[in-house]
Order: sequence, then structure tokens, then C-alpha cells
Amino acid sequence: MRSSVFFYPTLRETPQEAQIASHRLMLRSGMISQVTSGIYTWLPLGLKVLRNISQIVREEQDRAGSLEVLMPTIQPAELWEKSGRYHDYGKEMLRIIDRHEREMLYGPTAEEVITDIFARFIKSYRDLPKRFYNIQWKFRDEIRPRFGIMRGREFLMKDNYSFDLSIEGAKASYQAMLEAYVKTFARMDLTAIPVRASSGAIGGNLSHEFQILAETGESEIFYDVDYESLDVNTLTLDRLQTLYAASDELHDPKNCPVPKEKLKTARGIEVGHVFYFGTKYSVPLGAFVMGPDGKQVPVEMGSYGIGISRLVGAIIEAHHDEDGIKWPESVAPFKVGLLNLKIKDEACNKLCDDLYGKLLQAGVDVLYDDRDMGTGAKFADMDLIGLPWQIIIGPRSVSSGQCEVKNRRTGEKLELSFEDALKKVV
Ligand code: ATP
Ligand code: MG
Repeated sequence: MRSSVFFYPTLRETPQEAQIASHRLMLRSGMISQVTSGIYTWLPLGLKVLRNISQIVREEQDRAGSLEVLMPTIQPAELWEKSGRYHDYGKEMLRIIDRHEREMLYGPTAEEVITDIFARFIKSYRDLPKRFYNIQWKFRDEIRPRFGIMRGREFLMKDNYSFDLSIEGAKASYQAMLEAYVKTFARMDLTAIPVRASSGAIGGNLSHEFQILAETGESEIFYDVDYESLDVNTLTLDRLQTLYAASDELHDPKNCPVPKEKLKTARGIEVGHVFYFGTKYSVPLGAFVMGPDGKQVPVEMGSYGIGISRLVGAIIEAHHDEDGIKWPESVAPFKVGLLNLKIKDEACNKLCDDLYGKLLQAGVDVLYDDRDMGTGAKFADMDLIGLPWQIIIGPRSVSSGQCEVKNRRTGEKLELSFEDALKKVV
């Protein structure tokens, strides 16, 4: 992609309304633009990141044996009346009346819709277990939308729902999601701590929130230092029950099982949440199956959310410096930024165009800054948008046959031939 045809309206100044780094950097790098309170347009650069994150989430959900569906954003009130949540949910629910005076709502979550699907199509224990997920926009009329997309009103969520015959089965589903989550966040270079949680409006008796450590996080958490080296291969639900992590509302210093020298306290951003809630929705919505003994039993359910749009902010909180974002390669909007320092120099142009062609041919996603502007601004923009690699070509490269390759993460700079530069980033 050529910068001259791309669209990323970068800002030099820090926008007034942005209180935390991720919000500031997303606005400054032209990833998003606010439409109204808590509602944003994702501009091309931001959308690429959102898609990359969605894809990692999708791959790990598929690998954990889940089936992707796409449920609507608008739901009928009727389903929520059946579960009893229509009146309980309160002002966070955006309620809508259609032209026939029917009550509708913009879904804040989708337990009712998926349980209704299950109830209509699945009748036998032989079809279990089943896990369905979707990646879809949700709406919650948050009382205080803030920190940009971190706490928006409209936000992108992956929500998965598991259906099992027994409690043991439901725990196996829960375990599979725990593992999938640790893998998912590790692929984005994030350490996420599963913290015991109170179950909020959804209700239930087993629940963990995944928290990314960040000073600007909204929750205060307490955890065993062993969490920092959490390994997917040894993570089981039993092991998790022996490790300790709790949020401020659940942490009781008098009964804390962790010795003082191992107890850490930090602030966290909640990027995911796993719940087991038994038959809370299956009973009222009629999700029963015939068991092996021929009797009808309500299915055991769980639900598992990941805040995909919030993750964009959380990754930036974890990976930035004063110059801008430092994207992990797995989610970066482009892998390489190619800087042409003198577009008015024909020989320099030719070198850049050649390398650009070769990068594209090698399948590398590259942003080629071919704009007619000062080198200082080009360097600043490239650091700001935080692509993992920069290849810098100027008039000097014409005589030396070399270019500079910079790793945005480490700051390391190398003088390389064009061929070696290509190898380095491929
Ligand atoms: P919070 O305590 O932050 O309000 P929640 O407990 O209400 O979160 P869940 O219902 O568990 O959230 O939703 C699943 C995930 O969706 C959360 O872990 C979070 O990452 C994300 N999420 C929830 N609310 C928002 C929001 N207003 N903006 C962006 N992401 C959100
Ligand atoms: Mg909430």
C-alpha cells in the first residue's frame, strides 16, 4: 500500500479528550474517529488491526472445537422476557421500538438467541457437546464511556456459548476455553491473568476474568507471582483453583492464601471473561435434550467473552513508548514500513519502487511512504503508527547500495544491502 493513496490522518498534537496512552495513540495515528460518545468509526489502519485480532481469536476458537455463527445485533424483547432479563438488565440495554410497535433491543450479549437456536434444533445427548461462537458488535449504554474504544458503547465482542449434558462436561468446556484464551492472548504478546470473578448480571457459580496488567487498568487485582509465568501446557482448572488471583471486591487480606512475598498487586484491563452458569438459560428457554436413559434434561451451559475492540487498546497499553505504538507482528496493520526519503530523486525512487515490488512479491504486507513531505515528519509518522520493521532508503543508498533496517520494538538499526534487508523482514 502506498501512503499517497492510503488514508491515515495522523495528528502531531495530543487530542484534549484522551486521558490514556492507547486512546491518544489511536487518535494520533488515525486508527479511529469518534462519531458520538462511545461510538467510533474504524478507519483503514485501525480496521486492519481489529481484523488481525479477530482472526487470531477465531483460529483459537476453532481449534478449541467451536463452531462460528453470526447472530444479529438486533434482538426481540420477547426472548429476554423468557429468560427474565428484559427488566433486570436496566439502562445499559438500548431498547428500540419497530414500526409495528414491537419491542426490540440492540444485543448487549447473546445467551437468549443462541439458547433459543439450540432449543429448536438439538434434541439428543448424542449431539453434545456443542460450542457456538460469534464475533459481532454489541451495544451497552455505558453510563461513562471512556478511554476511547476501551469502554465504548458499541464494541466488538467474541462470545462463545457451550452446551453440555453434565456438569463435568461443562467443566471440560470451561477448561478448553481457559486454554484457548491463554493461547490467544500469548499470540498477541500479552500476559493475561485469569482472576476469580463475581459473576455480575449473568449470574453463576464459576467465573474468571482475564486481566492484562496495565497501570491504566480499571480494576485492581491481587495475584500469586507464579501467574506471570503461566504456561498453557500446565494450566488446568484444578491448577487454577490452587493459584490465587482476585479483584479488589473479592480480595480479603485476612484470608489471603498467598504469602506476602509472593503476593503482587497491580491494575488490570479486563479483556475476557469465562462463566459457567448451569441451567440458568436452558430451563426458561426450553433447551432440553434426551439423556442416555431416555429422560429429558436441561443442558449445562457456559459463556465466554473476549473484548476484541478493547484488545486493540490493551495491546497498545502494553506495547508503546513516547514516540508511538510498537505493534506485535501478529496484529500489526502492516509488517513493514518502507520510507522513501527523497521522492524528488529519480534514482532513489527507482530503488524504493524496486524493493516495494519485491516485498509485495514475497507476500509482505508493506506500507510504502512515498509522500512528498519532510523526512522528520516521515520518521515521526512511522514511529507513531508502530509497524514492526522500517526500511529507510535515501539518496545515500544510491551510491552505497545499502539501506537502513530498523526494528521498532528494540530500536536496533542495521545497514544492509537491499537483498539482505528483504531477507531480514521476510
Ligand atoms: P466490564 O466489567 O469491563 O464492564 P463486563 O464484565 O461487563 O466488563 P462481559 O459481559 O464479561 O463484560 O463482556 C465480555 C468482554 O467484553 C469483557 O471482558 C470486555 O473485554 C468486553 N467489554 C465489556 N464491556 C465493554 C465495553 N463497554 N467496551 C469495550 N469492551 C467491553
Ligand atoms: Mg460491563
